[in-house]
Amino acid sequence: MVTRGTTRLLLRNGGEAALDLTVEPWAQTQQIPPKQTWAVVTHSPAADGSWSGTLRGDEPFLVDHRPASVTVWANGDCFHLSDRDGNLVDSADWHRPVQGSDS
Ligand SMILES: [Zn+2]
Repeated sequence: MVTRGTTRLLLRNGGEAALDLTVEPWAQTQQIPPKQTWAVVTHSPAADGSWSGTLRGDEPFLVDHRPASVTVWANGDCFHLSDRDGNLVDSADWHRPVQGSDS
């Protein structure tokens, strides 16, 4: 039986101020409150559980850090945001936008 992959990435805001978290390619921005840990969860779109990768193949995530913000590229077909206990931060179930042909 083939099980599609699920991957979780924990992000901890160890600072004193809220941290901007953007999840791409959805461009969804949320703020992680100080001292909180959130999880970005994504599911593999491939039947064999592989990932498309951002810079190279088979990587579920890429994290791009800047001084006051962090961007996570999730390479599944959806993403979910939850806190460390698994409670959804945002009830939306974001599915990968349809990729248009390159123009
Ligand atoms: Zn999902």
